[in-house]
Amino acid sequence: MTDNIMPTYSRLPIGFVKGNGSWLTDDKGDKYLDCLSGIAVCGVGHANKKVAQAIADQANKLVHTSNLYQVPIQEQLADKLCALSGMDNVFFANSGAEANEAAIKIARKYAHDNNIDKPAIIVSENSFHGRTLATLSATGNRKIQAGFEPLVSGFIRVAYNDVEAVKKAISANKNIVAILVEPVQGEGGVNIPKPQYLNDLREICDQNRLLLMLDEIQTGMGRTGKMFAFEHNNIKPDVFTLAKSMANGVPIGACLARGEAAKVLKAGNHGSTFGGNPLACRAALATIEEIENNNLDIKAKAAGLNLLNGFKDKLAGQSKISDIRGLGLMLGIEFKEDCPNLVSKALEHKLLINVTASKVVRLLPPLTITEDEQNLMLEKLTSIILAYIGN
Ligand code: PLP
Repeated sequence: MTDNIMPTYSRLPIGFVKGNGSWLTDDKGDKYLDCLSGIAVCGVGHANKKVAQAIADQANKLVHTSNLYQVPIQEQLADKLCALSGMDNVFFANSGAEANEAAIKIARKYAHDNNIDKPAIIVSENSFHGRTLATLSATGNRKIQAGFEPLVSGFIRVAYNDVEAVKKAISANKNIVAILVEPVQGEGGVNIPKPQYLNDLREICDQNRLLLMLDEIQTGMGRTGKMFAFEHNNIKPDVFTLAKSMANGVPIGACLARGEAAKVLKAGNHGSTFGGNPLACRAALATIEEIENNNLDIKAKAAGLNLLNGFKDKLAGQSKISDIRGLGLMLGIEFKEDCPNLVSKALEHKLLINVTASKVVRLLPPLTITEDEQNLMLEKLTSIILAYIGN
């Protein structure tokens, strides 16, 4: 391994050279079942043929022109995303953190336009919104913030899934203009709030003229069994963000807005050189087409239920496991104590998993995962876990 890359990641001692659907192949030709899909990125499977063709075709036509000009494919993608989500417009970025930066800027400018000079945004404990200065300040994880102070001000933190805490914060602070929240916390440990949570937040935002801003960077694009997780609640946010699986691995992010929030940013208020370039937008359009043509949101729901029930069944009564939960293909198996070596144990068995929040096995397989692959994952991971906890 070279020393010429900044050591910002603790990487596992393996690298992959090709992929196919739910499988990755290393340089020795060994195949691994990918239960993580690049952390919820390759939703329509590795080396998806339709997406690959779209990328190749676009690369041969036009990769980039800049936002100094109209970008027809960007317009096509914006129209598609707005039609799918019921939002009014989109700002295109290149990553999740950048998409959230756009959302935070919308909230702040919305405030200033309404004569609130020191706007504050409610955020949650255990949240994750990215690694730029504003998004790490919004993130509810001290480890991610430590060493980067002074943090960006204007974030008020409350417990996740606690509506009373939100109400209390609002009554204590007249400068609150928005709530930024993940529909399901991903990095924080696959934390699924009570079913009414987003509905309650919507109502609170309506009553107090606040913007409801959902970070759908991990939950979006079919992952939870709906194209967007807020569809489970039959509500619409004022702003929501996407990235990760939007273009199956080609970097892109999006901040979508509706109503008043959609009117906030004007020419010169925000920008990005690469944001919404033809290559990324074409890949995103092809990815969305794959999700729609193959009903991958519906398939994710069925596959997720199969896996959830399977793990609950196979790991029933294990005293070292405190919870097994999931929404669509976002699954968590929580241990009572930290399980630091489980990822490398799984790797030895050619299974790619992740542990987040120190003790939650997080599973985010491609939405295309077949029934055979689901069963293989169930069998392999169960036996790895049982061996790990000494059964
Ligand atoms: N928001 C959520 C919910 C995420 O899960 C992530 C990444 O894990 C981000 C934001 C940041 O996205 P990116 O790494 O593309 O900046």
